[in-house]
Amino acid sequence: MERKDPLFQGSNISLEKISGFLKKFKFDIKDIKDIDLDNTYIKNIKLKRALALFMIATMMILGYTGYKVNEIKTRAYDVYFGEEKIGTLKTEEEALQKIKEVKAELSSEYGASVVLNKEIKFERTHVKDSEISSDVGFRESVKSNIGALVSGYSLKVNGEELGVLKSKKEVDYVINKIKEPYLKRASKDATIKEVKILEDIEIAKKEVPIGDIDKQNDLIEYIKTGSEEVKIHVVEVGESFWTIAKIYGMKVEDLEQANSDRDPTKLKPGDEIKLLVPKSKITVATKEEVEYTEEVNYDVKIEEDKNMYKNQKKVKVQGVNGENKIVASEVRHNGVSIEKEILKEEVIREPVTEVVVQGTKEVPKTVATGTFFMPTRGRITSPFGRRWGRMHTGIDIGASHGSAIKAADGGTVSFSGYQGSYGYMVEINHGNGYRTRYAHCSKIHVKKGQKVAKGQHIANVGNTGRSYGSHVHFEVIKNGVHQNPTRYVR
Ligand SMILES: [Zn+2]
Repeated sequence: MERKDPLFQGSNISLEKISGFLKKFKFDIKDIKDIDLDNTYIKNIKLKRALALFMIATMMILGYTGYKVNEIKTRAYDVYFGEEKIGTLKTEEEALQKIKEVKAELSSEYGASVVLNKEIKFERTHVKDSEISSDVGFRESVKSNIGALVSGYSLKVNGEELGVLKSKKEVDYVINKIKEPYLKRASKDATIKEVKILEDIEIAKKEVPIGDIDKQNDLIEYIKTGSEEVKIHVVEVGESFWTIAKIYGMKVEDLEQANSDRDPTKLKPGDEIKLLVPKSKITVATKEEVEYTEEVNYDVKIEEDKNMYKNQKKVKVQGVNGENKIVASEVRHNGVSIEKEILKEEVIREPVTEVVVQGTKEVPKTVATGTFFMPTRGRITSPFGRRWGRMHTGIDIGASHGSAIKAADGGTVSFSGYQGSYGYMVEINHGNGYRTRYAHCSKIHVKKGQKVAKGQHIANVGNTGRSYGSHVHFEVIKNGVHQNPTRYVR
């Protein structure tokens, strides 16, 4: 049996439940009636126990009821625009007042009278305090459901509507804001000659629900980043998501999101990383006139000289770069250079042509090439340097008796004959500060003063002079100083 008392509204407490609770304590309400007050001590104890339990039960009922009282619902009104519920307020007057205020606010904002085209309805209800609409919430709800149309200006780019703003002035402001950075970027030597938007721009008056009017800054942001272009970056040695993000001015998180299939800690050179680069919905084309100076490389003229060898050349006139002043027209799309056309080129300084004299005379084989080769084939049996406390001024190349000894480079024979411990020896002056010696020969084929070509057979291997076994003692002397021949031969 449900109590109709308002105190118990919404609760389902009943007497049966309370008595059921008491029975759990092996006691019944009728026991209380049966209690004989004039009875024994035991009966008194029973009475005391009954009273205590009764009090506990009463306190529990009161406590539960008290909680229910706090939760009591308030009389209120649900507010409807046609079938659309707008919110819940305590009085009709309060709702009407707020709706009136919102309408006035919108009217002044859009410069037009706002007419509510739906019926306002109220429905009586009971709600908890927390279910009453907040002031801000109710007003927002009125705004978005008011259904009234206002005049706005839509911005269409290549037929796609990007947004609707309150006024034409706002749309113009947005377009100017998009152009702005590319007008500023021009350097001090550049003059902007032309600015245009490549896309087809259409601004049209349009009736739209109030809630569809965009905020100009939101529209600017959308135009700037509205579409994204995927670019690829190939990872180089030592790069990480952090350094790559820095290169492209991106956030590391965005980079990680675009490459969620990759472990950022396992990047290796050659990996391809996707870059989501925001791409503006509008392309601002600028035509700048730029002025700068440019170096002009000098030409080189060759003059032939038949008195000089083919491998000889010398600079007769040193070339000097020239300098030109350039006026160019440069087209940029959103700041990126697309094409450059030179309009005017003015010489500031003419370049000076370099004149190089090149010999044509055939180089005789007896002229030194500057490099040496081994005079005979064989193993080096004794190296250059200190040996048994004495200086060994050349290298010994072991070869069989009578093998050919060849000139290590072209030159003129400066000694040919017997020379003490060297035995039979040939010395060649190469004319470039170098002389070479070939000692312990068995036979000599050249005379002093004779020109010899590189590789020419000049003597035979022998064992003359201070020698133990058949070999060539080979020396390389540079400006009078003995060198280690192994550093020169190739
Ligand atoms: Zn030797």
